[in-house]
Amino acid sequence: MGEFDLIARYFTRPVRRAALGVGDDCALLQPAPGTQLAISCDMLVQDRHFFADTDPCQLGHKALAVNLSDLAACGARPLAFTLALALPEVNEPWLAAFAQGLFALADAHDCELIGGDTTAGPLNICITVFGEVPVVNGKSQALLRSGARAGDDLYVSGKLGDARLALNAMQGKLTVPAAVLSAARERLQSPKPRVALGLALRGIASAAIDVSDGLIGDLGHIMKGSGVGATVQVDQAVSAEPPGVHVSLEQWRTLALCGGDDYELLFTAPTRFRAAVAAAAQASQTPVRCIGQIEAAAGLRLLDAQGRSLPNHYVSFDHFA
Ligand code: ADP
Ligand code: MG
Repeated sequence: MGEFDLIARYFTRPVRRAALGVGDDCALLQPAPGTQLAISCDMLVQDRHFFADTDPCQLGHKALAVNLSDLAACGARPLAFTLALALPEVNEPWLAAFAQGLFALADAHDCELIGGDTTAGPLNICITVFGEVPVVNGKSQALLRSGARAGDDLYVSGKLGDARLALNAMQGKLTVPAAVLSAARERLQSPKPRVALGLALRGIASAAIDVSDGLIGDLGHIMKGSGVGATVQVDQAVSAEPPGVHVSLEQWRTLALCGGDDYELLFTAPTRFRAAVAAAAQASQTPVRCIGQIEAAAGLRLLDAQGRSLPNHYVSFDHFA
């Protein structure tokens, strides 16, 4: 099978919303009047982001999920995406499963594949997503990293650390009970982007980011972008260890605070919006909890449940550090 048959067979579907889809030199997207396009790009590289034997269906899901997570963090509604693929060979069962995982998530978010590029090479998947955010009275409704203000509450969705727990277990660095591992693997390999929560937080959250590199590092981006500091109640941020996972408290906190690959939303909101945040969580059926406060004083302070200060030696992921 050649390049063009491959594209036609696995990556071409009837156009739904785009003005022009796969097949020409460019795709055409028509943003609705009074909206901005939100654009984000994420690459998945074999042996860096996933193992060579990763289930292709889950890989198709995850490649899009990490991109949708960026739209979620901006409060953008998914519209469309492009797919740049480098493939070592034409493996049809692999391609069919990859396309199935990819399109299942795409369809769930009504996000359309409008183009891409296909080449031979070491397996590499690069997706660019396009989303839409309204502009109201001349002001973009996008959630940014730069909007946090002293006094705001700091929130996180869902649960942190599962993906890293699964990764460490798969690498033989720790042993966990089978049931715990399978739930954690699901979080690692099929993350659910928090798109509904991001949309519900428009006009409520003052700043937001998705947790891809670990809470501590991603909170650092909000603090830097907003020119603020923060206090985190560590025992609010870190949920209880599942039974049968034998790690020290310190290791457990490190998994949750620095683990990465969580794709939860970390966001801030003024205290007057506490009820609105709870309503957004409920409307989007996403658990959300307050884990701290934004402060004028620069730097990050960590407290335990008794209010004692904890040393901050937590470092998040950096590809080149
Ligand atoms: P060009 O060389 O003009 O960039 P290509 O020959 O690479 O075009 O691709 C032909 C068409 O197929 C284009 O519309 C392109 O967007 C689309 N395409 C290529 N690869 C993919 C892919 N993996 N998924 C979806 N569309 C693709
Ligand atoms: Mg091309």
